[in-house]
Amino acid sequence: MRDLFAHTSAHWGRYSEYKWKTAPDGNCYLLPTEKAKPSVYDPMKDPHTLVIDALEIGMMLFRREPEATMKQSIRAFAGKYGLLGIMTALPTTAEFIDYEKVYLPKNPFLRKETMETTEYFRQFFPFIQPDFRKKGVESVWQTEDKYEIAFAMTFQSDPQAKAMSFMRNYGERYDWLCKLFKDWAFLALTTRFYMDDKKRDNPDTLALYRKGISAFEGNAPTYHIELRDKPTLIWDFHSLLLDIRFLLSIMLTDDHTPLRMCRHCYKPFIASKPDEEYCSEECRNQK
Ligand SMILES: [Zn+2]
Repeated sequence: MRDLFAHTSAHWGRYSEYKWKTAPDGNCYLLPTEKAKPSVYDPMKDPHTLVIDALEIGMMLFRREPEATMKQSIRAFAGKYGLLGIMTALPTTAEFIDYEKVYLPKNPFLRKETMETTEYFRQFFPFIQPDFRKKGVESVWQTEDKYEIAFAMTFQSDPQAKAMSFMRNYGERYDWLCKLFKDWAFLALTTRFYMDDKKRDNPDTLALYRKGISAFEGNAPTYHIELRDKPTLIWDFHSLLLDIRFLLSIMLTDDHTPLRMCRHCYKPFIASKPDEEYCSEECRNQK
């Protein structure tokens, strides 16, 4: 997997601290605190830990942990990795600002095919709207926050919306975050059950799993070729959401060291060999 993603433009922004805040419409949002310090990091440095951390939150949701515990865990996840970048992942393209409207493929959150850009922004800026003006396909957004300017400069070759999702007033809804974390855990669990039932050779159940796995995927990561010391394939990820989704798919289908859910405790782990079913000696001895 390391070779496949040797070159990515996948840097992502995060703040040191996030808080939950309820919007006037009653939805609860996660957004950076006023004093939180921003930073930029490379999610591809340790992709296994990133995906396993995300799956563990999904499994907590399956176990129906109390909302307070969930909010605490998701807040900690954001402090480590930032928000998911749902705003850039949902539309048909991460470059949606360049179009007159936002075009939305089938997704579990917004049941409209198109939306005015300002209306779309309100889904992610429920408290203070960005200073954004649009005239046809031309668009300008302004900020005086030095950190937001730094983000805009760091990501100036990426779609504009990417830097906008690091604005201090950008937030993501609790119910939407839960749905995404749960979907990822569901995907990993489905492959776990699929492997079990494959052994028992139950075609009806297998067909059901195959159907369940074809869920929402968001827009796909793109790539381009750069002429470095040799022509090099560069992957473009414009949201952490697509990073995680793509990495998870690659890890689940890895022929040598796949990601697995432990047969005993359901903990996600990286198997040292393809037929490894338990996360630890302890779990293997309990079978
Ligand atoms: Zn285990």
